[in-house]
Amino acid sequence: MKDKVYVIDTSGFISQVDFRDGTTITVPAVVDEIMDSTSRLRFDLLKDAGLRVELPDKACRELVRSAAISTGDASVLSVTDLDILAKALEMKSGSGVILVTDDYAIQNVAANLGIEYKTAATQGIRKKVLWELKCTGCGNVVKSGIECPICGSGVRRRRVKH
Ligand SMILES: [Zn+2]
Repeated sequence: MKDKVYVIDTSGFISQVDFRDGTTITVPAVVDEIMDSTSRLRFDLLKDAGLRVELPDKACRELVRSAAISTGDASVLSVTDLDILAKALEMKSGSGVILVTDDYAIQNVAANLGIEYKTAATQGIRKKVLWELKCTGCGNVVKSGIECPICGSGVRRRRVKH
């Protein structure tokens, strides 16, 4: 029997989804995005219960990038989004993977890659969250895309503090 693996996006830490029937995995970039105390607490609880924080496989990242370009989602996916999708794709080969995310672009690319996903059902919360794309190199705030138009570094989606 295949093990169930939950690959958890930032929205998955806001939710009350029960992950106890499987292995939980996320990527370092998602951990960096978790800022509010509720999500932090939930992260700590999952970490104690065995949550794995791992970088995705590079080859899987390239496959995800290609898929995102073909679905037209590449411009709205951040480096974090690509990482979480790549991790889900990587885990898919050996187990029954479920990607937990409320992001429609991520869901769209996941569907394109044959990755099963589950919404964290946090729409009410999601509407209040403001995001910005910030260059990981020079700190420039980028309107859209996955690369900084100034220095060419990757961009990362961040919650705007207010
Ligand atoms: Zn830059």
